[in-house]
Amino acid sequence: MDIIRAVRGFKDILPPETEKWQYIEDTAANIFRAFGFKEIRIPILEKTELFRRGIGESTDIVEKEMYTFVDRGEESLTLRPEATASVIRAYLEHSLHSAEPVSKLFTIGPMFRRERPQKGRYRQFNQIDAEILGPDDPRTDAELILMLLHFLHSVGLENLNLEINSLGCERCRPAFREAIVSFLRGGKNELCEDCLRRISTNPLRIFDCKVDTCRQIIARAPLMTEFICTDCREHFLILQEGLRLFNVAYTVNARMVRGLDYYTRTTFEVTTESLGAQNAVLGGGRYDHLVKDLGGPDIPGIGFAIGLERLASLIPDHNGTASPILHLYIAALGNAALTTAFLLTNRLRLKGIHAETDYSGRSLKSQMKRADKLKSTFVLILGEKEINAKRALLRNMKSSSQEEVALDDIENIITNLTR
Ligand code: AMP
Repeated sequence: MDIIRAVRGFKDILPPETEKWQYIEDTAANIFRAFGFKEIRIPILEKTELFRRGIGESTDIVEKEMYTFVDRGEESLTLRPEATASVIRAYLEHSLHSAEPVSKLFTIGPMFRRERPQKGRYRQFNQIDAEILGPDDPRTDAELILMLLHFLHSVGLENLNLEINSLGCERCRPAFREAIVSFLRGGKNELCEDCLRRISTNPLRIFDCKVDTCRQIIARAPLMTEFICTDCREHFLILQEGLRLFNVAYTVNARMVRGLDYYTRTTFEVTTESLGAQNAVLGGGRYDHLVKDLGGPDIPGIGFAIGLERLASLIPDHNGTASPILHLYIAALGNAALTTAFLLTNRLRLKGIHAETDYSGRSLKSQMKRADKLKSTFVLILGEKEINAKRALLRNMKSSSQEEVALDDIENIITNLTR
């Protein structure tokens, strides 16, 4: 019979990869905590309406990538394609805004988008997501980006490109949108089908089109920089000053629009050449109207989402993520030895010392091979004869020296040796 395989675009994360993920997640949690963030855990399933309203009807995500189904209660539900809308839903549902003027929340978990799978792009992928709700000061934007880069450097990432842009606000963006629409109408004949449709649905998304002819047209398109209002310009300049005060290198990319409708003012992305085609490690930005659009008060916000698969693929295995050390392997031969091995291994484990044994009764030679493969620091050789004499052979695998020790002392000896 054939085995059942995972769904296309859905991936297992196996050890030792999982150890790397734990290391990344622990580092994120520690660094974020120092910046005042607290963890929030939210459901994977939400009402479809949340993402339609939050992300925007005419985005690629909502138009063609969501896993949406009608459940047995006749309700349309969606596996979350991103976390921001859900975090805000929870923030409003539990009135976090009335308890605190500023909420800094982070969450880590899987997202679902039915995109075409390829290297670095999956249908279930994981994100580290952080959101600051309350402040609209550009220094907040700067410190969020500062925290982000500190985290990426802490897990060993180098050669990163930070790109920032301002998408303006509800006062200055409409004029930019108008200008883009009339510019595109001029070059209509050469645009791809998607971009033709975008002229009326979501003209800014044309900056993300990968089709060559469209790219050539877009290269001549007007930019937000020409339309940005004084307040937005000042906001953007203070953000940049904040980054410079911490020597954070960045480039302004006036063509970066990002794929979600809710962004206002600051947007940013971190890319690296080492990732190939899917080169974005993370993306984020300010969303000053999203809370209101989701039915809440007028509260601004800013956040980012890091792709965990892409981040993990950039970190070498040995970078603080080595497998836990195996301190002792007990090679047990014969029934009486098995019971002692069972007792000893588990007593040591309860003390936090990693010990392994083998209850299969395999030959000493194959157990020694196994201990070697597991890179055990010590091996205890325990046979019928040793049990009767209440003694056993303790072998140091590095120096290949061995000594006879009293069985009653082993726990103490190993505890002292591994301290
Ligand atoms: P977004 O939510 O689209 O701004 O994406 C933020 C980050 O999530 C990206 O920079 C990627 O690192 C990651 N990401 C987005 N979509 C996928 C996907 N389909 N597969 C793997 N990672 C993804």
